[in-house]
Amino acid sequence: MSIDARSDKRTAAKNVTVTSSPANGKLWSNWSGSVTARPQEIRMPRSVDEVAEAVRVCRREGRRLRIVGSGHSFTPIAATDELLISLDGLQGIVGVDPEGFTATVWAGTKLKLLGELLFENGLSQENLGDIDVQSIAGAVSTGTHGTGISFGNISTQVVGVKIVAGTGEVLDVTRESHPDWFKAMQVSLGSLGIIVQLTLKLRPSYKLEYESRRMLLDDCLQQLEPLREANRHFEFYWFPYAKPSQIKVMNITDKEATGRKVWDHISDVWIENSLFGLLSEMSRKLPGTSKAISRLSASQVPVGRKVNYSHRIFATQRLVRFNEMEYNLPAEAMADVIREMREKIERERYRVHFPIECRYAKGDDIWLSPAYDRDSAYIAVHMFKGMPHERYFADMEEIFLRYGGRPHWGKMHGLQAGQLAERYPMWRAFKAVREELDPDGLLLNDYLRKIFL
Ligand SMILES: Cc1cc2nc3c(=O)[nH]c(=O)nc-3n(C[C@H](O)[C@H](O)[C@H](O)COP(=O)(O)OP(=O)(O)OC[C@H]3O[C@@H](n4cnc5c(N)ncnc54)[C@H](O)[C@@H]3O)c2cc1C
Repeated sequence: MSIDARSDKRTAAKNVTVTSSPANGKLWSNWSGSVTARPQEIRMPRSVDEVAEAVRVCRREGRRLRIVGSGHSFTPIAATDELLISLDGLQGIVGVDPEGFTATVWAGTKLKLLGELLFENGLSQENLGDIDVQSIAGAVSTGTHGTGISFGNISTQVVGVKIVAGTGEVLDVTRESHPDWFKAMQVSLGSLGIIVQLTLKLRPSYKLEYESRRMLLDDCLQQLEPLREANRHFEFYWFPYAKPSQIKVMNITDKEATGRKVWDHISDVWIENSLFGLLSEMSRKLPGTSKAISRLSASQVPVGRKVNYSHRIFATQRLVRFNEMEYNLPAEAMADVIREMREKIERERYRVHFPIECRYAKGDDIWLSPAYDRDSAYIAVHMFKGMPHERYFADMEEIFLRYGGRPHWGKMHGLQAGQLAERYPMWRAFKAVREELDPDGLLLNDYLRKIFL
């Protein structure tokens, strides 16, 4: 089956989520507002040829370009004052191989739409992160991950890439056809070219039972191994200054879908977003209340279960805006790192009420994946938008780095080229591919230049 991106009614403009997309001549900003830019021009190509033409124009005129997905990265990784390319006009499924459990999809497809389109074909992604508004190419390019020690990040689902490289060439790349290029393209930071299509390895659709409950943080830290081994997906949130933490697990089930109950809406939208948003505003205006607010939030952790198809269970709504730093660590370091973070937070009395999100992922062989060559823990710290995060993030980062941490590419960090090279064994190999596929630095913005040059 082959569906043209322009002829499928559910693709392209009809499904574009434009909330954080740029508009010509206007100020562009990422989701959290931490990054702004003024692109001279914005293009929304609607075919591979139009993408290639944009690259050719830049090469001819000596301009640089960046690609934006949904603008959900916290760093200036997608920002440019030159040409900004959005693939919002290239969404949908190109073709499905039901026997091989693969699908080729347009790179601009938002994860929510992708989940529904795959589901119509009896297929689903084996794992996802906790929101579904990103584009598939944006998620892949930064190594976006969910949780589950048996599952790699979303990039591990990729088995083929069609890309317009910085040279202007259109390349079809698989592990078999170009082993080095493929390992570089699975997590590329958008620095090799414009990905136009991705082929994903999928599995038959399945339902998940989700359960949220409270557990004392100390008990949770003692039971990390059984919790992560016994559940397909396990994560926990701990609230600074509070004793209880929130445990979330998801496991495959044949039970009936519970549907969308009123209580789910109250819990997901009202408690986790509206009420938390109000408390966050209070914390921003009266920072001295943040400790009490963190404890209050911990005591209100929703307790319950729900069942639905996987793509509808993984995603949550995130209506409260924040800034975030997330680090990948060796899986076995989780408890020690958290104990150190807790001690530091309490000693320094940071004014923070946002919970800290703790997840797991399987190691992989992708050159710039933070989970390269090790089963991993991921720990993310957040700060409400408008509240100072610098000292808190810097001190947490210092702990992460001592345990061999590698930053998430979509989230804030303070590392420069030399420090990154030390942490990624295949850094030089990646740079060699980068120089081959983008010899003129067409895709480099200030942020990437600092990392790669
Ligand atoms: C509320 C929120 C929740 C989040 N939850 C998670 C989570 O659960 N797990 C997790 O790991 N991360 C999470 N993230 C981070 C997010 O998944 C990543 O930052 C992701 O890259 C954002 O996707 P995007 O489509 O917005 O890409 P953008 O932020 O727009 O771009 C990211 C990178 O991808 C590149 N890119 C985009 N499209 C293309 C293309 N077609 N070709 C080549 N390069 C391209 C860009 O140039 C840029 O380098 C979250 C972020 C937010 C704001």
